[in-house]
Amino acid sequence: MSDCLFCKIIRGEIPSNKVYEDELCYAFYDIEPQAPVHFLVVPKEHIASALEINDENSHIVGHVFKVVEKLANELGFAQDGYRIVNNCGKDGGQTVGHIHFHVLAGRNLGWPPG
Ligand code: 5GP
Ligand code: ZN
Repeated sequence: MSDCLFCKIIRGEIPSNKVYEDELCYAFYDIEPQAPVHFLVVPKEHIASALEINDENSHIVGHVFKVVEKLANELGFAQDGYRIVNNCGKDGGQTVGHIHFHVLAGRNLGWPPG
């Protein structure tokens, strides 16, 4: 999508601090980190939100979780634990209209969320 912020980041039109990339997804550090480790994993395909997950694209979500498991081990926070967050829609706190999974780690994250 031409005017989507995360599509522009994926295409390299807006700079980002890359964590990982493969044919299905792109991961980069959040510009406003909420934990010592905070990066976003986004599908390369433009999917607006969790409401647009369907039989054709749901495999990407499983892939994202697998990638996070791999990165958690490589980056060293697997043992202490981490949180994967998807905000969906207005009340969910979604501010960018391209589905993304926050990965937060490096401190006790607390519950419930705000
Ligand atoms: P949301 O609120 O939609 O769940 O999360 C959007 C996230 O994208 C926020 O945590 C915000 O800090 C991050 N973000 C917004 N614009 C940029 C940007 O230009 N670069 C990076 N790296 N992160 C961004
Ligand atoms: Zn997009």
